[in-house]
Amino acid sequence: MTEQVIYINGEFVKKEDAKVSVYDHGFLYGDGVFEGIRSYNGNVFRLEEHLERLYDSAKSVMLEIPHTVEEMTNIVVQTLRENKFKDAYIRLIVSRGVGNLGLDPYSCSHPSVIVIAEELSLFPKSMYETGIEIVSVATRRSRSDVLSPKVKSLNYMNNILVKLEANLAGVSEALMLNDQGYVAEGSADNIFIVRKNKIVTPPGYVGALEGITRNAIIDVAAKKGYEIQEGVFTRHDVYVADEVFLTGTAVEVISVIKVDGRVIGEGKPGSVTTDLLESFRELVQNDGVKVYADHLNVV
Ligand code: PMP
Repeated sequence: MTEQVIYINGEFVKKEDAKVSVYDHGFLYGDGVFEGIRSYNGNVFRLEEHLERLYDSAKSVMLEIPHTVEEMTNIVVQTLRENKFKDAYIRLIVSRGVGNLGLDPYSCSHPSVIVIAEELSLFPKSMYETGIEIVSVATRRSRSDVLSPKVKSLNYMNNILVKLEANLAGVSEALMLNDQGYVAEGSADNIFIVRKNKIVTPPGYVGALEGITRNAIIDVAAKKGYEIQEGVFTRHDVYVADEVFLTGTAVEVISVIKVDGRVIGEGKPGSVTTDLLESFRELVQNDGVKVYADHLNVV
């Protein structure tokens, strides 16, 4: 087994040496952007889309990533190669970089670029077989005109507060509403409801991150002939849905069988959710940037 290495600003270092300065504004202020990406069987799933979201987030907060998209693709690929990983979770971070203690980002001369790849520890199979319980929480999604949920920034306090509430309620994930009470998303996943064979997920403007898995599921479901659309809905619609599921890079597609004490459908993963999970798992095996293909021009 090779020792895990982490990419930091142009070099690969051992995990114990992978350190950033306490003056990095990513640490001091959560000033930066990130992506959580996954590689399946040596294929990085939808890397292009992840990088597009990363560069969009960076542009929105005026953070200039010191690499082209092509260079960044190569850095991610190279990180997997160095570690000889095929199935991995990849965390790509670009922070404002080292500056002084003040808030002003102009004191930071150079962004920090970090790629961590870890061999994937899968969620337990039983979770997919039984489904999970979630609760809605008091913490609301930050408004789109405050800190836009579309920006995947290092400032995840909103999501962390939601996760804390879920933990306190003894469940692993929560339902986050926006400031008007409409359903937005989970702490780190998107939500879908199924009612009478129609699948609905909240649009970005309600406060949902436009998840890469979410978009893949919309494509997959449409191709399979399901009626699927974006729509605004409330907790009531969730309670009376036939099926509810969450999507995200880490969790893929997971059935929700209880929300705020209300049993969803028959209280077990439904046929639409199961079908979409299976189709998604087929898709990811071959779809994506091939890490070990010889033609790749890796720097
Ligand atoms: N919403 C939030 C707040 C998230 O952090 C994530 C995880 N990136 C998602 C949704 C799911 O997005 P994706 O499918 O791109 O992982």
